[in-house]
Amino acid sequence: MSRHGSGLQEEGHLLDDDFSRLQAEGIVLPEGLAWQLDFSDNQLLLAAQGRLELPCARCLQPVTVPVGFARRYQVFDRSDQADGSLDVSDDDLETVSTEDRVSPVHLIEDELLLLAAERPTHGDCAIELPEQPRPDNPFAILAKLK
Ligand SMILES: [Zn+2]
Repeated sequence: MSRHGSGLQEEGHLLDDDFSRLQAEGIVLPEGLAWQLDFSDNQLLLAAQGRLELPCARCLQPVTVPVGFARRYQVFDRSDQADGSLDVSDDDLETVSTEDRVSPVHLIEDELLLLAAERPTHGDCAIELPEQPRPDNPFAILAKLK
């Protein structure tokens, strides 16, 4: 990534194979993911749009959720500078360092994993969860174990 000149713009399209950590979680991108990168004045703007397919947190059948985000990163030379400059009160600005050689794909994958961690479900999840038997006596279940 050049730090000279008027900046750097790139865009592209990523596929499942680019995201090994997502694959390990059973998360797929049915149409891939479009992304855009804009780097200037040591600020990186990273945006991506697509759809994630992952197991519904309720019925475990695939659910598709739209994703779209734009994130700003302040870029430093060294990781200690990046860590020391992170303002935790500013959710919109992250820090990265060129020393850590973090790739845009890695940063995008971090964002997608955060979305997946919200455990999305079908809006009208069709699966009825089985009624849990509720014994009147809390010790009834213990009696059954005898
Ligand atoms: Zn569901």
